[in-house]
Amino acid sequence: MNAMRIVVIGSGFGGLNAAIEIRKKLKHSQHEITVISDKEEFIFRPSLIWLPFHKHSIKKLSFPLRPTFEKISVRFIEKSVKSLMPKQNYVICNDDVIIEYDYLILASGASPDWARIKGLEGKSASIYDVSSALKTREKLEEMEEGEPIVIGVAQENPNQGIAYEFLFELDAYLNERRIKCPITFFTYEKELFDGNGKEPTEKLEVLMAEKQIPYYCNVSIEQVDDGKVYLNNGERLPYSFLLVLPPYKGKECILSSKDFEHENGILPVHETLQSVQWENIYVVGDANNIKGTKTGRAAELQGVLAVENIVKQMHHEPLRSFQHDTLYFMELGKEGAMFIMNKPSKQGTLTCTTSGMMPHMMKRAFESYYLLKFS
Ligand SMILES: Cc1cc2nc3c(=O)[nH]c(=O)nc-3n(C[C@H](O)[C@H](O)[C@H](O)COP(=O)(O)OP(=O)(O)OC[C@H]3O[C@@H](n4cnc5c(N)ncnc54)[C@H](O)[C@@H]3O)c2cc1C
Repeated sequence: MNAMRIVVIGSGFGGLNAAIEIRKKLKHSQHEITVISDKEEFIFRPSLIWLPFHKHSIKKLSFPLRPTFEKISVRFIEKSVKSLMPKQNYVICNDDVIIEYDYLILASGASPDWARIKGLEGKSASIYDVSSALKTREKLEEMEEGEPIVIGVAQENPNQGIAYEFLFELDAYLNERRIKCPITFFTYEKELFDGNGKEPTEKLEVLMAEKQIPYYCNVSIEQVDDGKVYLNNGERLPYSFLLVLPPYKGKECILSSKDFEHENGILPVHETLQSVQWENIYVVGDANNIKGTKTGRAAELQGVLAVENIVKQMHHEPLRSFQHDTLYFMELGKEGAMFIMNKPSKQGTLTCTTSGMMPHMMKRAFESYYLLKFS
């Protein structure tokens, strides 16, 4: 077999795991593996939830990627990709350098699409990256007694769990500081954190009642202005501090590439993770339109599966389909955390929900293990 050029765009959960897996699977081959990423650090994004509340330091949730890739002989190019040319099999970087490929794994993630909700842009706090999480920390430091707070999940947001984590962390933070502020929560989900089994919903309902947090399910945002969120059930929620999880959009390099059909930059894929248009392009993680919650776990599994399928494709073997599962640690402030598992197996779906300090410690331990393993 000729030596192939496999290019990975992005080095988050999807891209990092894909690159490591290619090296494992194609150990003694001449294939050339390249990762292009606009960041030279890996950020363990689930831990961003702790930054606004002074519960974590930035240094402890990241590591530099270059040494990791050097160790496994993967070429690392720290550049932003500005355009994809799937007909010609190359990508163009922001400095106009062209990188050719035989197989491409697109793991460029997604961005919050604030503009999709009328009036939302610039009004909501955010925790999607380090700098926005730090700005949120500053806002919280200025918070005063009695200020109304609204936390919510807007229609089409694909990772609702983050809002629950923020809600309970914020509740604990305010309690510690002895600041009393009325908090209201809303979500477009039919029930609290639905789609993950009965137990997580029931646990969250109990917590909401205990903490006297009023909430609305099955609602969408009509618009937001400087002081209120307008829900489609007629409710007008006044806020002084607002955090809404918006829908996602794909990255600029996809939005600006003419030869891709996409849904607001999110790329449609087959269950094999191949682009529906280009069979040598695999799309993993937040960047694709695979159903199910968008998580680091899903991105990681998809990165690994994309590699498995590329190797199968090289050998003209049938490809494997992606199967979604849930392994999720949801932080719950003073109550610790909730661990939720829904895992398909030959014996049926294995489910487990457990909460308390143990899942919280497991989440912390998992982060340390992950950073140690890959750095
Ligand atoms: C606060 C918070 C809490 C979360 N909690 C959890 C949790 O508990 N469990 C869980 O499983 N998931 C959690 N998630 C979700 C998880 O972090 C994401 O689903 C995951 O990061 C998606 O991985 P990805 O590789 O698809 O994309 P990303 O992590 O977004 O990585 C994309 C990569 O592409 C690079 N890139 C983007 N555009 C370009 C370009 N044009 N050129 C070159 N490089 C580019 C970026 O620099 C980055 O390296 C959480 C997320 C947040 C924000």
